[in-house]
Amino acid sequence: MSSSSSNDAEALRSRILSSKLYFDVPLSKVPLIYSNSYDIAFLGIEKLHPFDSSKWGRICQFLISFGILDKRCIVEPLEASKDDLLVVHSESYLTSLKDSSNVAKIVEVPPVALLPNCLVQQKVLFPLRKQVGGTVLAAKLAKERGWAINVGGGFHHCSAERGGGFCAYADISLCIHFAFVRLNISRVMIIDLDAHQGNGHEMDFRNDSRVYILDMYNPGIYPFDYEARNYINQKVEVKSGTLTEEYLQKLDKALQVAGNRFDPELIVYNAGTDILDGDPLGRLKISPEGIVQRDEKVFQFAREKHIPIVMLTSGGYMKSSAGVIADSIVNLSKKCLIQTSQG
Ligand SMILES: [Zn+2]
Repeated sequence: MSSSSSNDAEALRSRILSSKLYFDVPLSKVPLIYSNSYDIAFLGIEKLHPFDSSKWGRICQFLISFGILDKRCIVEPLEASKDDLLVVHSESYLTSLKDSSNVAKIVEVPPVALLPNCLVQQKVLFPLRKQVGGTVLAAKLAKERGWAINVGGGFHHCSAERGGGFCAYADISLCIHFAFVRLNISRVMIIDLDAHQGNGHEMDFRNDSRVYILDMYNPGIYPFDYEARNYINQKVEVKSGTLTEEYLQKLDKALQVAGNRFDPELIVYNAGTDILDGDPLGRLKISPEGIVQRDEKVFQFAREKHIPIVMLTSGGYMKSSAGVIADSIVNLSKKCLIQTSQG
């Protein structure tokens, strides 16, 4: 190792060790992470995106109204600071977010380009940095409790140097780098079941044998990142129009293979719901019940192997998505794969 790279490694370590994102959470709280500031809403511009930008809050409202979650038990994360973000991102990438037209391209809402950057920071990037804080904290909670769900996060198109597809910060990469140092682990499995290819984490962990990536995605939609595809350890392609039964069979087989190949100390499950039938972006035909079964299979996989699991909600912004995610969390609770109330 050259002296500059060992200096870099030392700087990275000290940034992570001095971060406030890993705070202690009392046992009276449930490892379900959410903040009111996750939800993006301003001037009606959010309506221009094919997008339910209050999905995260609606998931919690459903869970509270079903009686399986007490509002006071939700964990509120801290916002990822600039120092936290520098663990993965470069100074120049973070500076590029001070240009509203760059942010507009990343979040795919062209009128954002016309707004003063202070508004963009406050209304778009601050909510996303809160979600990043939630993803990072989720790994600590998963290690302590066996599981954790960040009701937001899963920005899998963003890498250290490039945002895109609504993803401005690489929360998955950040979560894993924090876990390496703070949880003293060295083997992480990413199970990415969002409809889109997770090119951000794939670029960030290329040639890093500590991370095993299982990515099940539709190859006929965004981001068509052929370079990043080379860095997927286990690629499962599901074509447009794939139905629930075929999807779940492929998932069963994929989990079996992954379990034989790699023995992780942490699973990061990117549980996008844009595989739902009718989703205009994902173009797959998975039923709501299929999503519930999918999530159960992944949690069951983690449970059988006694591996802590972090779930992120990632893509899927149809009006129906929040209800499906809430139904799935209820099912995980019923099957005792998670525990959402005390006693
Ligand atoms: Zn997606």
